[in-house]
Amino acid sequence: MKAARFDYVRPGDVADALAVLGQAEGAKLLAGGQSLGPMLNLRLVRPALLVDVSRLEALQHLEDTGSTWRIGAGVTHARLEDARGRLPGGEMLCEVASAIAYRSVRNRGTIGGSLAHADPAADWPLALAALGASVNLRGSTRRSMLVARFIEGAFTTALAANEIIETIDVPKLSRAGRYGFYKFCRKTGEFAEASAAAVFDPQAGAARVFLGSLRGVPQPLAALAQQVAQHGESAVSTQAISEALAQSVGDLDAVEHAMAAAAVTRALGQVFAP
Ligand SMILES: Cc1cc2nc3c(=O)[nH]c(=O)nc-3n(C[C@H](O)[C@H](O)[C@H](O)COP(=O)(O)OP(=O)(O)OC[C@H]3O[C@@H](n4cnc5c(N)ncnc54)[C@H](O)[C@@H]3O)c2cc1C
Repeated sequence: MKAARFDYVRPGDVADALAVLGQAEGAKLLAGGQSLGPMLNLRLVRPALLVDVSRLEALQHLEDTGSTWRIGAGVTHARLEDARGRLPGGEMLCEVASAIAYRSVRNRGTIGGSLAHADPAADWPLALAALGASVNLRGSTRRSMLVARFIEGAFTTALAANEIIETIDVPKLSRAGRYGFYKFCRKTGEFAEASAAAVFDPQAGAARVFLGSLRGVPQPLAALAQQVAQHGESAVSTQAISEALAQSVGDLDAVEHAMAAAAVTRALGQVFAP
């Protein structure tokens, strides 16, 4: 099947892109096309106009602001993968990027496109929620919100029709900070069946644990994270993980529960690996 007919425009900067979005009904942003392309071909979406933002300079920055890594929405998974060793405090970004699909997908797919698409099984919404990252949106005004709030449901976000994701701010972990990310895939390169991400920064006294893929949005295991923040590794046990899952996602069936418990156990295992 081929995409339905659409018009195409490549604006020169973000202001132009926003002007087009504001004027044209049925317009849709195009970044790497790795999710939108298949959806167009399957005619799951039929935008009248594609606004190609893949070459916008302002979306390509990867900037050290001191306390955060500020990542342009148009930065590809491959660029983050290749930044290994050059993102102190942001090492988890490189790990997560390198495990997304295949290199050909990573060469084009972008972090902003992944967040906007909000596939429940995608890696960035989960990893960025666990890292406490914020998304910076630009429309007629600018606003920021935590990624964990931005993702509202399966394929649903807080993004308005006339807004664009400009950048994502990822707080740096301290030198003592640890992270874990684990996903079950039937085949390498496939979307996850279940996934989990955990971050523990003893210097900041902070921890976050999220379960991914099994529900529409990354599910915070807040009570478990609080225990980890206070007591470190001694807070982690099979029972504590089971209780945290029952508290946060009580409606998991037996198979989902087994996958969820294993994913969380393995993510936390990475956090506390010697
Ligand atoms: C074979 C295959 C396997 C994959 N496996 C995985 C995987 O294992 N894990 C994973 O996480 N992902 C996976 N993906 C998805 C991949 O990561 C996509 O790159 C990503 O989901 C979308 O990014 P994109 O830049 O291609 O966005 P596009 O496809 O261009 O756009 C996706 C959506 O985002 C919107 N959008 C794009 N940029 C912006 C912006 N700056 N502001 C606002 N809205 C914007 C578009 O309008 C569209 O609605 C896979 C894709 C393929 C084809």
